[in-house]
Amino acid sequence: MSGARKPGRNFLFVPGPTNVPDRILRAMHVAMEDHRSPDFPKLTRPLYERLKAVFKTEEGQVFIFPSSGTGAWEAALTNTRAPGDKLLASRFGQFSHLWIELARRHGLEVIVQDEEWGTGANPERIEEALRADKTHEIKGVMVVHNETATGVTSDVAAVRRAIDAAGHPAMLYVDGVSSIASLDFRMDEWGVDVAITGSQKGLMLPAGLGIACGSKKALAAMKDGNCRRAYFDFTGHMATNPSGYFPYTPAVTLLHGLREALDVLDEEGLENVFARHHRLAGGARAAVRAWGLKLCAKEPKWHSDTVSAIMVPPGFNGADVIAAAYQRYNLALGAGLSQVAGKLFRIGHLGDLNELMLLGAIAGAEMAMRDIGIEVELGGGVAAAQAHFPGGAELRQVAAE
Ligand code: PLP
Repeated sequence: MSGARKPGRNFLFVPGPTNVPDRILRAMHVAMEDHRSPDFPKLTRPLYERLKAVFKTEEGQVFIFPSSGTGAWEAALTNTRAPGDKLLASRFGQFSHLWIELARRHGLEVIVQDEEWGTGANPERIEEALRADKTHEIKGVMVVHNETATGVTSDVAAVRRAIDAAGHPAMLYVDGVSSIASLDFRMDEWGVDVAITGSQKGLMLPAGLGIACGSKKALAAMKDGNCRRAYFDFTGHMATNPSGYFPYTPAVTLLHGLREALDVLDEEGLENVFARHHRLAGGARAAVRAWGLKLCAKEPKWHSDTVSAIMVPPGFNGADVIAAAYQRYNLALGAGLSQVAGKLFRIGHLGDLNELMLLGAIAGAEMAMRDIGIEVELGGGVAAAQAHFPGGAELRQVAAE
């Protein structure tokens, strides 16, 4: 069919899957191999230690499943909980909602604290609920660190402080799917008991690895964790992983990619990765201000450095912006989900990207908005983001030194 080809690179600016660096693609371009060979552990065994550094844990144990993030959600809960267990969860977006639904389908009783979409977990309310639970029936608190649907980051350290202030033994379950390896995440320091992520966001890989990390307390809870589980059972991994093997066929090519991704993260340095995400997100937010639009995130304290959810003005549909961006400019933007469907579009700014790539997405978004009749000044968002990035003044200073 003529006209169907979209020339040039696709600008992938959904908040996951993210761009896979060419060197990671090349690292995955390998012949299949025997995952029971004596050489296989040379690839796999270092991955666990290296992932622990990404989760910032010394004591945690990492599990790698051939799944998406949803599988890791399931693993986190089913390995450590029994049907009927009570969990406390904040809900403030589509992903916090879906995790709660998954828990319920496993027979867990979830006490939901609904927060306005555009805000996040409320440590005061969590502390209050835990204080009221004198008999310690609540076994765990579930928090989505970065709600990808609304571009909101919650303060996990504050949630830990709330649990401790209430003197409550509940475990802390954290979804780090769109935060880990992009935003600072401190499993041990924050006393997280199970943290999970997926491969297709900060780790810059295709989808296909669900990664969970359990604290000592979480692993001890497995003895009472009677939820039904088979494929996502930690037990088989605990038996085989130390020698570098898996209880079933692992996603071999993705493991090669993961090794390369960890090299990429090491070369940049995790702290620099976080700083870059902060800088780029600041550029995106400057563009939104210049457009005269608002983020879904209600206050700066909720701003996510990995995804900006941008409200379209009343009378417009975010889906039209996304369609125009995709069809005319080969730019993929994220959709509004559920409660915010049509009300916003999202720019994912996580993983392997730099200033100029983001400026391309900002330029495309403002053209798409103009195309559907939203009155933003062409170049306005681009200029605001450019001004936000370190530029002339800094370079002149370097030259003068
Ligand atoms: N949690 C968050 C915060 C997410 O953003 C996503 C997906 O985007 C998920 C969980 C589900 O992960 P997956 O789609 O990899 O199963």
